Amino acid sequence: MRAVTINGLCGHAIDLPALLDATAPHGAGSSAIFYAKCVACGEGTELRLANGRVTTGYSYFGGSMHFEPVKIFRVGGLKVAVSDPDDLDVSFGERRWHFTVDTPSQLRFAVLGNAAAAGRALGELDFAQWGVAIRRVERNGATLEPDGAMVLRPGDFLHLHGPAPALTRAWHYMNVGKDRAAP
Ligand SMILES: [Zn+2]
Repeated sequence: MRAVTINGLCGHAIDLPALLDATAPHGAGSSAIFYAKCVACGEGTELRLANGRVTTGYSYFGGSMHFEPVKIFRVGGLKVAVSDPDDLDVSFGERRWHFTVDTPSQLRFAVLGNAAAAGRALGELDFAQWGVAIRRVERNGATLEPDGAMVLRPGDFLHLHGPAPALTRAWHYMNVGKDRAAP
């Protein structure tokens, strides 16, 4: 496989596979934008990956998020695919990387009668360890402010806010009572 280098915003030429190796598994943002660190100097560079192309640049917020391209690199054989709704698979030659999109989102989860969380107080559900916040609770059509002492009942709905993979983890914990992703 031929070597492909990308110039980071710092100016260093960085081997693309080495750059992807150094990117955190949760480093992907929305629209396949990655925050990568230069392996030579540690300076951050934002990359947008697409099939056959890597664009360096930077994001800014102007009413909504924009990505300002600095330079486009043609990378034959680079493939980017969305797998799970929240995951990205990147391949280049024989190499494969899997990234989790870390965009915070909000989801509404039903508390089922057989869920581990039913009958337990909100304060006992330590979702904060994964960066998940309980925004509100819906009960019998009414919206309630979350309170650590509130005991969940079957039929309640929890509105959770946090990174997509952490929401999946909280959902699993809510139903099964243990952490799926515990190593
Ligand atoms: Zn550098």
